[in-house]
Parts: sequence; C-alpha cells; structure tokens
Amino acid sequence: CGIVGYIGHREAYPVVLKGLKRLEYRGYDSSGVALLNNGQLNVYKKKGKVSEMEEDTMGKDVHSHIGIGHTRWATHGEPSDRNAHPHVSQSGNLAMIHNGIIENYAPIKQELISKGYDFKSDTDTEVLLNFIEDIKKNNDCSLEEALRIALKRIVGAYCILLISKDDPETIIAARKGSPLVIGIGKGEHFLASDASPIIEYTKEVVYVNDYEIAIVRADELILKNLGNEKQTPFITKLDME
Ligand code: GLU
Repeated sequence: CGIVGYIGHREAYPVVLKGLKRLEYRGYDSSGVALLNNGQLNVYKKKGKVSEMEEDTMGKDVHSHIGIGHTRWATHGEPSDRNAHPHVSQSGNLAMIHNGIIENYAPIKQELISKGYDFKSDTDTEVLLNFIEDIKKNNDCSLEEALRIALKRIVGAYCILLISKDDPETIIAARKGSPLVIGIGKGEHFLASDASPIIEYTKEVVYVNDYEIAIVRADELILKNLGNEKQTPFITKLDME
C-alpha cells in the first residue's frame, strides 16, 4: 500500500515506476499508474508485482509529464486487475488512487447506483471517486471544491491523488490518517507515502497534515484545509543518512 505522484519537466512514468518499486517493501497485491498525454488519460494496472504491470506497458503510450501510481493492499474487493488502482470516474475524466478505507461507502454507492452510476470495481475507492464527480456535476463547481465537499461527508482514512483530463497541469492530493510527503524540486514536485521514492531527487519535503488538500503543479504547491483556507507549507530538510 503506497502512492507515488510526479509533475514536472521529467518523464513521469519512469519516476513513478521507480517510486512504486521503492515502496514495494510495504507489501501489496496489485499496482497501477495513470498518465495524461495530449488530452488522453492512459491507465495501466495489474494484479501482482509492479514488474508485471511494467511488462504490461511495453509498447504502450507512457509519455507524460504528470503521473500517479499505486500499490494496493486490498480491503474492499479481491485482488484483481479491475480492483487495482487507479480508478477512472464514470465520465472518464478523472483518475484517482487511494490508500485507506472509506467506511461509509455503502450508502453512498447505493445513492449513486440509483442515479445511474455503474461501478467497474468492488472498491470503496471508486465510490469516493464517482461521489466527487457527482458533486462536481450537481454543484457546477471546481474539482477542488467537489473534493472538499466529498471529504466532509465521508468517514474513514485516506491518502488520495486525483488527476483530471480537464486540467493536465495539476495533481490534487488529500490525506487523513494515511501518510503523504511532497518533495519540492526545481519546476517539479514529487508525492509519495514516505520519503524513500523522493530522496534521490530532492531533500526538501513537506509532510502534509490530516484534513489538508494539496494543489500541486510543476512550480506551485498550495496547501489548504477543508475550510478552503490556505496553510503555510512547512518545509523539512531530509537528513542524508
Ligand atoms: N480500500 C482501497 C481498496 O481496497 C485501498 C486499499 C489500499 O490502501 O491499498 O482498494
């Protein structure tokens, strides 16, 4: 169970892939990545080792400067290709990865099914993702605002990374109970469950707090609380040892 994200001038896929391998020690049953290239959302995910997912991407389009990756420790839905993350929203516009558990996913899922949503996985994660999409549509608001509304209504633990076809310059992240570290580079940012995937690129990191949302662009990092108030990122220097 780990998450990795990258946005910046490098190719995202090799950075994310290497990061996922660094997080393998945490244990997992499947892995996957989502990448955006020229308005196209490319998602590759597979049960088993990160190397099996990697093999699956051979010859496929992995070009991107924004990417999110996940290793899954199944809690809702058996380990399988379709339950692996990232999940894609009903419209096909959003992709999300999640570590943790959404405890009250069942009634939300029922509500969404009654509105015509159909689910491609058995995960609690896909419920949260379509919940966010539904809130965005109904309130005609930004993705960030929809996420805030959704997070106030869910119970559980999460670290999530969210990307959208409509805004290929931004990764939106949020956490409660599951760790999230953001590495600050020059014109690039790295996101991960712990510093091990980040340390080779930068020593400057921000540990995101519970109930904070991070809006991450190549050269901008904005932290907000769930009340939409900006928070000052506290930069920590990683120790070389
Ligand atoms: N609850 C989610 C699932 O079962 C995320 C599990 C995890 O933390 O990897 O898909």
